[in-house]
Amino acid sequence: KIPSLTLLGLGVMGTALARTWLAAGHDLTVWNRTESKTEPLTATGAKATAAAAEAVAENTLVVLCLLDDESIDETLWDTDLQGKDLVNLTTSTPAQARARADWATARGARFLDGGIMAVPPMIGIPEAGGYVFYSGSAALFETHRSTLSVPAGTKYVGEDAGFAALYDVALLSAMTGMFAGVAHAFALIGAEDIDPKEFAPLLAGWLTTMTFSVHKTADQLQSGDYAKDVVSNLAMQVAGSATLLRTAEEQGVSPELLTPYMTLMERRLAAGHGDEDTTGVVALLRR
Ligand code: NDP
Repeated sequence: KIPSLTLLGLGVMGTALARTWLAAGHDLTVWNRTESKTEPLTATGAKATAAAAEAVAENTLVVLCLLDDESIDETLWDTDLQGKDLVNLTTSTPAQARARADWATARGARFLDGGIMAVPPMIGIPEAGGYVFYSGSAALFETHRSTLSVPAGTKYVGEDAGFAALYDVALLSAMTGMFAGVAHAFALIGAEDIDPKEFAPLLAGWLTTMTFSVHKTADQLQSGDYAKDVVSNLAMQVAGSATLLRTAEEQGVSPELLTPYMTLMERRLAAGHGDEDTTGVVALLRR
């Protein structure tokens, strides 16, 4: 029999998740603070309840996809969670996820936290490559693995409930740095008569090629030898930074997205690590 489940939260993401479970034949009970958002789903077979607690009472597996950690308290403060398997897909920090795991356990529930590495149009489309990081109760994950695999791929990253959020935010943080670099590159060419659409594949190709450095950094961090297999040492890279900054000035572009990283490289160089890679910056960032 296809397992049944409850989903609380029918925003853009929750609605996308709900559609995939309904399409796969799961009995789905939904609740949303603004009740009207349940209508398109009840029209295709979902059951909706007026109160969150009623929806929770319907099934053992209860998935949350609310705005933020606070909205979970507002939704579940008076709900009986004894014996429930709570899967929280609401974006949270690692500390919030760990506190939420303790909160759920104290109420007699098993808890799994999730970090969604996808945007709503990728949900239910395996070729799109989206997936969800999960961490927390391994037993819960094993029990509901096939149901949780319906909307997107799954990657279980450990019993520590904070890890899914940590992996999620680490990837998003790296992406933020990449977006900053992309903005700077487009600003540089923007002063000239260069078609951004022709430049884009060059930029995307270069960023893709350079991802090999992620593995090298990991290797150096693991071995503790930051001078291992260095091809572009720090002293050379700091000297090269001057060309990047001067070009920004010539093109009339603010260097503000580049300078924080360059300042850290200079500090590491000044401490006598010119023969290393840029991996030493990691140590400078950790407080
Ligand atoms: P939406 O803004 O579309 O929906 C937010 C949902 O939270 C709605 O169901 C809303 O109810 C509910 N909500 C907000 N505040 C409260 C509250 N105080 N009490 C009860 N319910 C509340 O957001 P998304 O669906 O896009 O996102 C949901 C979660 O998924 C977020 O944590 C987000 O970070 C995460 N996520 C989203 C991605 C995306 O690209 N959209 C990607 C990856 C993760 P109501 O309808 O009544 O307002």
